Amino acid sequence: MLTKIHHIGIVVRSLDEAFGFYRDTLGLPLHKMATVPDQGVKAALLPVGDSEIELLEPIVADTGVARFLEKRGGGLHHLCFETTDIAAELQAAKDKGLRLIDQQPRPGLAGIIAFLHPQSCCSVLVEYAQPVDHGEHSSLLAEARDRRFTAKRLDHVVIAVHDLESAVTTYQKNFGLAREEAREVPSLGIRNTFLPIGDAKIEFVTPLGTDSPIAQFLATRGEGMYLLALEVDYLPGATATLAERGIKANTVPAPDGGTLAFISPKHTHGVLLQLVSRR
Ligand code: ZN
Repeated sequence: MLTKIHHIGIVVRSLDEAFGFYRDTLGLPLHKMATVPDQGVKAALLPVGDSEIELLEPIVADTGVARFLEKRGGGLHHLCFETTDIAAELQAAKDKGLRLIDQQPRPGLAGIIAFLHPQSCCSVLVEYAQPVDHGEHSSLLAEARDRRFTAKRLDHVVIAVHDLESAVTTYQKNFGLAREEAREVPSLGIRNTFLPIGDAKIEFVTPLGTDSPIAQFLATRGEGMYLLALEVDYLPGATATLAERGIKANTVPAPDGGTLAFISPKHTHGVLLQLVSRR
């Protein structure tokens, strides 16, 4: 059974440089860091609420991660679901006819892991992870709470697609997720649907017109993960802290009231990042 988004994988040129933003500016604690030889990466996990951000720095040429960095300059790379039984999960994926990258589970930074092929998942590289350690985040998160500004929860991840209904059906069938009603948000130029999992959501988005940022993303990059949204306690405080560090957040009204802040990929090592306050 899939229980939550375990982590979002982000490819970066340098872990040390990326810590400057994710650890020192967003205030996320460092949970663990290791070299993963069979993926050719140095990787780090930073908890954000009940999920984590996994930063990946390629250290071997011509691996999937190294090619991603070369082609895209880094950014959102994969989506990892936590499972209570990875062997059963992988077998279920095979039975549904999904294309797999790993035929057998193997050890990874997040526990016992396996990757599914993007072709079966709306061009998103999907990982399953069954953690081998549990509940050791609490002291890290308590420590992070003492900092001035901390992203406290993975709110949602946005996947840009051409056909909203077909993508939602694929994820419902593949991963057993429920869905919310589709709606149109003309102010953002999108039609979207949320699929909740754990305390976060996957949002599928398709453009309403041809000149929205989503439409441009689809035209230049194709379908895939478009944006990562993190919850903060107090948005004006967060944007003020960012401004002190020379990072300008673009604040816009949220469709449901309140405000959202967007941070350009140039400040985040390739990720279009949204901060949201839910209070
Ligand atoms: Zn991962």
